[in-house]
Amino acid sequence: MDPAELSAACETLGFTTSDLASDLGIPIHQAEAWLAGTLDIPRRIAMDLRYRAAVQQQDRALEAAGIPRCEWIAEWPARVAAKPRKLDAHLAALTAHVESCGTCQAVDAFAATLPPLPPSPPPAGVEGVVTRFMAWTDTLPVWARPAVQAGAAFGAMTVMRNVFAIPQMMRDPRVVGLVLMATAAATLGAGYLGLICGFVYRWMVRTSAGSRLLGTGSIGLAGAAALTVAGGAPFALYYHTLPEAGFAWGAIGFFVCVTGLLFASWLRLEQKGVKRPYL
Ligand SMILES: [Zn+2]
Repeated sequence: MDPAELSAACETLGFTTSDLASDLGIPIHQAEAWLAGTLDIPRRIAMDLRYRAAVQQQDRALEAAGIPRCEWIAEWPARVAAKPRKLDAHLAALTAHVESCGTCQAVDAFAATLPPLPPSPPPAGVEGVVTRFMAWTDTLPVWARPAVQAGAAFGAMTVMRNVFAIPQMMRDPRVVGLVLMATAAATLGAGYLGLICGFVYRWMVRTSAGSRLLGTGSIGLAGAAALTVAGGAPFALYYHTLPEAGFAWGAIGFFVCVTGLLFASWLRLEQKGVKRPYL
């Protein structure tokens, strides 16, 4: 972003130099240096200002074209804030509303004739790394995404936990090998479970969409059972044994039932049109 683009963005947003400084929480002489071109504007800040100015311009274009705003949409964030735990229901209501509301469709149709919005800036820090990683996994085949995401999450968790083992590793190099093996095992194990989850999830969604014979309850239970068998199989193979105690099988059965009911409720939401990430 050069100084000319920065001052254009400020004009669109109605910012004076001191407004810009207080909005970004920076000293005013820094904003002055950006506008004078004596200091480079950081990329994240440029993206943020460019995005906000484009949203403002789109708003003004809608206003100039006399397209009315949808009051239902304007009040939606307040309804979500009032009952944040019902996010699934709020999203389902939003999807249903946009499909049936003439005002929303007119806004969407008009917005489609305008130049597309520039990308919004990614969050900073760890959240930014996670956001970029998730955006990258979106480019992978659908079946591979849960495996890569779960593997990376557990691998990262193991690495963080092992930070406390650094003093020990410095004293005894053999600990380094153990830590590396634990990290690899966590990554591969979680990746394997993620892979199964991805396949089971897709099977459940497709079957519940196409089958009139099976209800969401039985599909959820079948999915939970498949997940449990596939997840437990490596342990049974490794230890050459199956749980013997009756209570162990009872606990496994209980786990399958609870997980199955959870899956069934997800599938019902899916059928109501709430978008899920792995579709
Ligand atoms: Zn509407």
